[in-house]
Amino acid sequence: MHYPMTGRISINLAAIRQNWTWLLSQLDSGDCGAVVKANAYGLGIERVAPALHAEGCRHFFVANFREALQVRELLEADCQIFVLQGCPEGLELEFVEAQLIPVLVSLPMFERWHAATKILTNNPCALKINTGMNRLGIEIGEFETLLAQPHLLREAGMRWLMSHLACADTPVHTLNSIQLKRFSEMIARAESEFPDMKASLANSPGIFLPGDPHFDLVRPGVALYGGAPLADRSIRMNPVVSLHLPVIQVRRLERGEAVGYGAQYVTTEPKVVAVVSGGYADGLLRGWAPSGRGWFNDFLPVLGRVSMDSCIFDITHLPEDLRPKESDEIELLGEHLGVDDMAAAAGTISYEILTRLGERLQKRYLE
Ligand SMILES: *Cc1c(COP(=O)(O)O)cnc(C)c1O
Repeated sequence: MHYPMTGRISINLAAIRQNWTWLLSQLDSGDCGAVVKANAYGLGIERVAPALHAEGCRHFFVANFREALQVRELLEADCQIFVLQGCPEGLELEFVEAQLIPVLVSLPMFERWHAATKILTNNPCALKINTGMNRLGIEIGEFETLLAQPHLLREAGMRWLMSHLACADTPVHTLNSIQLKRFSEMIARAESEFPDMKASLANSPGIFLPGDPHFDLVRPGVALYGGAPLADRSIRMNPVVSLHLPVIQVRRLERGEAVGYGAQYVTTEPKVVAVVSGGYADGLLRGWAPSGRGWFNDFLPVLGRVSMDSCIFDITHLPEDLRPKESDEIELLGEHLGVDDMAAAAGTISYEILTRLGERLQKRYLE
């Protein structure tokens, strides 16, 4: 069903698959997984996870149990599903039953997992080590204590060691090499007891760090969905998302007239503006408006504030015959404007833009 006068977003699954394959080709060791948490960064897990599976991806990362069950239902049993926030108390046996791999992020979580699963066999878990981000993870000293009791780690089914980089999008940041060194040291310490243990460190930007950050598995998210992995945007991915909003009214303004809520913008000359359907309820950030742009035959500045259901573009500078008319669509993301452009205008990151694209938009998938 096509709903006229409703904003639409299209998601290019082929581009997601190409991005995954290209990231895989960049690795000098190991395999490439996919982070599909938060509904595949807002783009729709039901379509994204099977597309990545068809491309050959077999390692999927989600944030929590609920997301993990969703992926388990979507994909064949040949996939490993990692739950990045680990296993909540009391869900250990449900994780085992659904064959989910918890990324255990604290010592108490490890102890609960060990107590609940030690009598079973073959229930792999991953341990996350805090190497300097200080968000989640078992402390290095705690892990050393566990290494001194290898039977505990064996009973708990430790198969993976993981950590997470805090500053990988800025390769020159000194924390990168510190975290990489600490992680490598922990692997070296564990290897004699656990020769089959595997390791994973890199998110999208981490793939491009110097010094062998790939290990056995990388975990890109945003780069799959078209976001530039590095802060300087020197690496460009295939664009995945486009967003078009229909014009619902074209309006002519005299000099000195206010535009939108708060009369934030007042014209200093006569203007022609296009009001489009799509506002903050569709995921446009209010902070995007002051430097936000759309595209229709040329770049169009946003005027005034973003409303819940609409926003307003200045089309004055376009020649009369090139101006959008009612029901023409203005591009906000697409050929001329990338997700990183919108993020930069809004003072945020592509991740926030993608995960906010709203349910109200009509979604179309390109194979
Ligand atoms: C979200 C997340 C990723 C993916 O990060 P991107 O920067 O989107 O590639 C990888 N690892 C962990 C632990 C995460 O939370």
